[in-house]
Amino acid sequence: MALGGLAIGSVLIEQHAAPWRWALMVLSCLVWPHLAYLLSRGSADSYRTEKRNLLIDSAIAGLWVPLMHFNLLPSVVLVTVTTFDKLSSGMRRLWLISLPGLFGAAALATLILRPPVELQSSLLVIICTLPLLVVHTLSSSIGSYLLIRTVSRQNKLLEVLRRTDSQTGLFAREHWQEHANAALQRFHATGQPACLLMIDIDHFKEINDTYGHAAGDEVISAAGQCIRNSIREVDSAGRYGGDEFAVLCTNIQANDTADIAERIRSQLQALRLEHYPQLRLTSSIGLAAAEPEFATLDFWMKATDTALYAAKERGRNQVAERQLSLALSPAG
Ligand code: GH3
Ligand code: MG
Repeated sequence: MALGGLAIGSVLIEQHAAPWRWALMVLSCLVWPHLAYLLSRGSADSYRTEKRNLLIDSAIAGLWVPLMHFNLLPSVVLVTVTTFDKLSSGMRRLWLISLPGLFGAAALATLILRPPVELQSSLLVIICTLPLLVVHTLSSSIGSYLLIRTVSRQNKLLEVLRRTDSQTGLFAREHWQEHANAALQRFHATGQPACLLMIDIDHFKEINDTYGHAAGDEVISAAGQCIRNSIREVDSAGRYGGDEFAVLCTNIQANDTADIAERIRSQLQALRLEHYPQLRLTSSIGLAAAEPEFATLDFWMKATDTALYAAKERGRNQVAERQLSLALSPAG
C-alpha cells in the first residue's frame, strides 16, 4: 500500500494536488493498512474481517483512478495489483465480489468530482510506479513458489501415509497389493517366480480378551516388526487387516519361501513383549507360488488364503503350502 502511495504521490505532485487529496493518500496508503490489520486482529471472526478489508482495498484502488485523473500507468497497475491480490488470496470468487466496489467507487468519485482526463504518465510517474510493479510481482512469485513447495511436501507426506500402515510401519493393504500385482504381471510376462504368504495370528481375539485391547495393539505392532525382520530386503510385507499380514517374496521358489515362512513363524513364537512378558503368540501361515492360472491377484490371494485356512485347520502354529497343503512345520 505504501508503494501504491509512492505512485499516487508522484501523480499528485505533477497535478499540484490540493491538501485534501494528499491527506486522502496518507489515509488510504499509510493509515488504512494499519487500521485494517488492527481490525482483523481484534475481530472475533478475523477471516470475515480480513475479507471485508480486502474488499475495501479494492474500493480504495477504484477511488484513486479518478482522483489521479485516470493517469494510465498507475491506474492500471493499482487496479491490476488489487484484483490480483483477491485472486491470490484463494478465497472463492473474492475477485469477482470485489469488482462492484472497485468500479462503484471509481464511478461515484467520477460523478461527484468530474475530474479531467489526463491519461499520459510522465517519466517521474513511471519511475514511481515501478517499485510497486516490481516488488508486488516478485513477492507474489515468492509466495506462490513457497506455496507450491509446501503443497508438494505435503503431497509426498500424504503418499507416505497412504502407503504405510501406521500401527506396524508395514505397507498398507492397497499399496502392498500394488506390489503384488506388479509381481504377478512380471511372472506372467517373464516367468520370474514369486510367492505370497498370508500370516494370521492364532486366537488373537483371546489375546485381546485376556490382556486387553492395548496389549492386542502392541502385539500387532510387534508382530509387524518381527515379520519385517524375518524377511529379505527385496520382500514386501503389508498389513492386510486386523491380525492378518501378507508378504510378497519375489524371485524365489516355493521351497525357499517356506524357509522364510518358517522363520517368521518361529520368530513370532519367540516374540516377547516388554509390557506383557507372559504373553505368548503363535501364527498360521499360508503359502502360494504364482501360477499361470492366476489371471488376477484375487486368484492368487484366494489360493494363499486356502493354504492359510488349511494351516488353521491342521491345528495352527504352522506353515501350509497351496495345492499340496502339507504342513511344513509341526504344531507347537
Ligand atoms: P484365529 O486363530 O482363527 O485367527 O482366531 P482369531 O481370534 O485370531 O481371529 P478373529 O478373526 O476371530 O479375531 C481377530 C480379532 O482381532 C477381531 C478384532 O476385534 C481384533 N482386531 C483387529 N484389529 C485389531 C487391532 O488393530 N488391535 C486389536 N487390539 N485388535 C484387533
Ligand atoms: Mg487370527
